[in-house]
Amino acid sequence: MKTKVYIESYDCRMTVVYSQIVASILKKENYEIANSVEEATIVLLNTCAIRDNAEQKIFGRLNELRSRKYNNPTVGVIGCMAERLGEALFEKADIVAGPDVYRTLPNLIEQALSGGKVINTVLSNKEMYEDIEPVRLDSNGISAFVAIMRGCNNFCSYCVVPYTRGRERSRSVATILREVQTLIDSGYKEVTLLGQNVNSYCDGDVTFAKLIKQVAELSPELRVRFATSHPKDLSDELIEAMASMPNIAKAFHLPVQSGSNVMLKAMNRKYTVEWYMDRVNALRKAMPGCSITTDIIAGFCGETEDDHRATIELMKSVGYDYAFMFAYSQRPGTVAEQKMSDDVSKEDKIRRLNEIIDTQNLLSLHNNQADIGKKFTVLVEGRSKRSEKQLFGRTSQNKVVVFDKMEGVEKGDYVDVIVRSASSATLKGEIDM
Ligand code: SAH
Ligand code: SF4
Repeated sequence: MKTKVYIESYDCRMTVVYSQIVASILKKENYEIANSVEEATIVLLNTCAIRDNAEQKIFGRLNELRSRKYNNPTVGVIGCMAERLGEALFEKADIVAGPDVYRTLPNLIEQALSGGKVINTVLSNKEMYEDIEPVRLDSNGISAFVAIMRGCNNFCSYCVVPYTRGRERSRSVATILREVQTLIDSGYKEVTLLGQNVNSYCDGDVTFAKLIKQVAELSPELRVRFATSHPKDLSDELIEAMASMPNIAKAFHLPVQSGSNVMLKAMNRKYTVEWYMDRVNALRKAMPGCSITTDIIAGFCGETEDDHRATIELMKSVGYDYAFMFAYSQRPGTVAEQKMSDDVSKEDKIRRLNEIIDTQNLLSLHNNQADIGKKFTVLVEGRSKRSEKQLFGRTSQNKVVVFDKMEGVEKGDYVDVIVRSASSATLKGEIDM
């Protein structure tokens, strides 16, 4: 009988992709991927270290895996938290493996099964996994993530990613196109090209703009998305490529982090509010109706009430469709931790975060209501969670739409839907006949 491994992915889309690669590596070595912890001999937690609460969640889970609820599985922590904490995790885990050593996992597991504690957290300068065909765990069979690059060279002062994921590395165009073609051949209709900063993608003279065009040209039936982009590198070439291909989704995730130039400088973001607004205007001019989403950090080191208000003002002037919003969390080893003071009180951080969330909820509601009466091409992803009689899917702008089922319309189809009502989270509509 094959040994069964259960893999859990935490907090970030990159962990989801790399769990698929881990599954592929293990399956080749005769392991089986389990469907639950209960049936597994080995449990791997693929972790994120971006904020302290992401790590606290993992510690909670590690304690739970050691409880009587489970059958004492061999436990591994892999990914960013493994890279950051190393041997300190041995108290709760048997295997510790950083993001660049997944090819050695079969070996590490074998050693751990014979009773030892094992660790490998070596980082590499090379792309390690480009020829591995990921096993699509938990896939809906319609949308898939495709990693195109890894690591980050930007060193934003608050961020641990350059330390846990190492330097930026791009996959070759050929292996990316091959992976996407395989997905198309298996019936997939949507891919999201993933990297910490896809704008830095580079394989010879192939820039990200050229790559995304080549991917979109593989099939007009394939919707192509990407995440995420650093505003400092958002080129006109990419905007033109997006505008020129109807099947590149008209959705742009452009993390701003703060609306204050003083904060942006302290964060080492390398752009100003003025530069950011110029890029937003360029996107809107080339693609009217394109959605724009962002990431925001509340209460970074030295943030004043004026800086915070500037963030709220910027949110309103851009009119974001959606935002991921976080309270600043100090990360060991970062420039902010070593050279700045985490001086915004917890209460102020939470209050500012709540003001940011309230602002975004209103903006999302306003933008969604502006869609009422408009027609969108929706890629059907499946049955609505609330009702058997309804389906749901996404618009090119990445908004979720729920609508009544219709004979002959199935998961994976594109349908035109007219929006009839909207909340801050969802559009409701009907199929246009
Ligand atoms: N590479 C991407 C972001 C990856 S991390 C980019 O630069 O856009 C996702 C988000 O987590 C960041 O955009 C930031 O908003 C948030 N984040 C990163 N480090 C953080 C920290 N120390 N505290 C709070 N939020 C943080
Ligand atoms: Fe972190 Fe900045 Fe790199 Fe994004 S660009 S992963 S926020 S260092």
